[in-house]
Amino acid sequence: MNKAESLRIASYLDFLSYQVAPSLREADLVVLNTCVVRQSAEDKVLGTLGLLKGLKKEHPNLSILVTGCFVDSNIAGLKRRFPQVDFFFKPGAYPELTNWAQKQGISTAEQGLLRYARNDTWKSPSPCAFVPVIQGCNKFCSYCIVPYRRGREVSRPLEEVVCEVKGLVKQGVREVILLGQNVDSYGHDLPGNPDLADLLTKLNNINDLARIRFLTNHPRDISQSLIEAMAFLDKVCEHLELPIQSGDDDILKAMRRGYTVEQYRKLIHAIRYHIPQISLSTDIIVGFPGETEEQFEHTYSLLEEMRFDVVHVAAYSPRPGTIAGRKYEDTVPPEVKRERFNKIEQLQANIATELNSAYRGKTMEVLVEGERKGKWYGRTRSDKLVFFENKDDCTGQLVKIRIEKTSPWALQGKVGYNS
Ligand code: SAH
Ligand code: SF4
Repeated sequence: MNKAESLRIASYLDFLSYQVAPSLREADLVVLNTCVVRQSAEDKVLGTLGLLKGLKKEHPNLSILVTGCFVDSNIAGLKRRFPQVDFFFKPGAYPELTNWAQKQGISTAEQGLLRYARNDTWKSPSPCAFVPVIQGCNKFCSYCIVPYRRGREVSRPLEEVVCEVKGLVKQGVREVILLGQNVDSYGHDLPGNPDLADLLTKLNNINDLARIRFLTNHPRDISQSLIEAMAFLDKVCEHLELPIQSGDDDILKAMRRGYTVEQYRKLIHAIRYHIPQISLSTDIIVGFPGETEEQFEHTYSLLEEMRFDVVHVAAYSPRPGTIAGRKYEDTVPPEVKRERFNKIEQLQANIATELNSAYRGKTMEVLVEGERKGKWYGRTRSDKLVFFENKDDCTGQLVKIRIEKTSPWALQGKVGYNS
């Protein structure tokens, strides 16, 4: 979501005739887009704000704008704490960014917003574009700060999303990644209650759009109709992000996740039944308050059983204002969290090694995203990163690649033929 918002801000500034500075020191304007989901992310924000304070002393004309989840509702308090910052705006609050630009006397500020609001002209630097479809979250999982900083769920009208995607496709975008903290909630607040399956069906009809993905799903809310739509719609990729967070029922309850391990297991079976080639990612938090060795073992063995393609693991970090932050002591020592974190990373590296090695010798369709260190790269429909060599720029093309080498993190191969 932050990436999506940063790209939009960059596109807006581009329209105001700003150019990317070669380095932070040479910039006239810095927009800091922040994350505070864990303390380590917040510490990075604080460090960067310190660095910017120093820079502003050297260049008093430097403008510093701060957005993202660091910006809570007490903006006056933030202004007092960080006088080096010229302007704070909440995540996604682009009209406020326009107000700032207008105050700077930037004559194109309003036009920039109008073009932005019409949603047909933000420029995607990549053939794969992020498109937020629902903001905020109503779930209040006990550990999570997101609902406090991003507010309640607000869906974008279906036609607005379709219009934006059509605009992006005209620019050459081939894949869209629909975003929401909980995409399964999409539409419940809109007239007529369209859902994600309805949106996917509409987007699937857009000519020249090759692929559709979405994230993140919630195990409690993902519907049978969505699974069936995924299986049926040809542009919807075989890839799901379905965070489980823990493999222990008591911990899941304390996390307020609203499902049991058995319900999650059944869900995965249903998904694999309808979409046998599905690639699955999940998120895990280790060291939630009170997590015993045995409870951690439940998570570990569940991962062994499920064999996810990707596991994002995080050590629990108490967040101010959250239910867990208020109710529970952070009892699991840092070294135990680290040990559990490492165990899961190691297990997952082994699983991913095995799963990815099954790709060797197969020819996969790759949507090329760009060049990195002399090689082209892109992703398979199952979201595997693939590197290959090619003389010509093939960004935005669907290329057939024969996979030769695999690792837990990426695949490498040779070009077959393009389509
Ligand atoms: N909406 C998604 C996740 C959003 S937050 C979901 O329901 O899962 C992204 C990830 O950050 C979460 O999946 C979780 O694993 C991690 N996370 C959130 N709060 C955290 C905390 N307090 N400590 C550690 N990890 C956290
Ligand atoms: Fe946070 Fe839970 Fe909402 Fe995900 S579903 S954003 S973890 S509160």
